[in-house]
Amino acid sequence: MLEKMQGIVMKTQDYGESHKIVTIFSNKAGKISAIAKGAKKPKSRMAAVTQPFIFGDYFVYLNSGLSTIQQGDVIDSLRRIREDIIKTAYASYIVEMTDKLTDSHSPDQYVFNQLYQTLNWIAEHEDADIPIMMYELKLFKKGGFAPTVDKCVNCGSKNEPFAFSIAEGGLLCPECKHIDPNSIALLNNLARLFHVFSEVELERVGTISVKPGNKKLLRDILDAYYDQYGGYYLKSKRFLKQLDKLE
Ligand SMILES: [Zn+2]
Repeated sequence: MLEKMQGIVMKTQDYGESHKIVTIFSNKAGKISAIAKGAKKPKSRMAAVTQPFIFGDYFVYLNSGLSTIQQGDVIDSLRRIREDIIKTAYASYIVEMTDKLTDSHSPDQYVFNQLYQTLNWIAEHEDADIPIMMYELKLFKKGGFAPTVDKCVNCGSKNEPFAFSIAEGGLLCPECKHIDPNSIALLNNLARLFHVFSEVELERVGTISVKPGNKKLLRDILDAYYDQYGGYYLKSKRFLKQLDKLE
């Protein structure tokens, strides 16, 4: 069945002399694998629409196994991502995480929109740390392992100041903080940021300014949290950490 859909190219691999197999995250069909015939020929139209991170319109013969891309048109090439190794590293990270935490043929318009918005942000801005964390928290929810960030995970209290507990999976109120001696104290506005990050769509937030030290604290918490609950090793994350060390 030939279907028209919007999609984001997640990854590609060569197939035979001149073809590629492309993994696309699409609005209508979710994640699909499709053959793009002739896509290895540099001048082919198919080559242009099957580069990593391209956001395009695709006509696809859908199949439960390998689909076939009949035609594609670029909506937003997100070219700046491919031209910059740091941007490529960040984009690869969120795309790899999306790949790991979503099932094939299981559409999710909300995650699709947030992925595009986040990639677009990475393309257009120097600093994408906050949008990336916003997207990750939404993916954690999709993966079914999101932390509790609107109340105490132990007693449900909304009393501040909260601490974040990796072991308990979310915020602990002052009365419950003792159940995890390794919980990390958060100033009130930081605990609220976690909540905002996980609930609000990126396009509805302007720039959120967070002090570098606090940003690093949130980053470290999310990394430790993913290591505990995410379950999948991410190659792209290792590369990001290596880049961090170089800076
Ligand atoms: Zn409590």
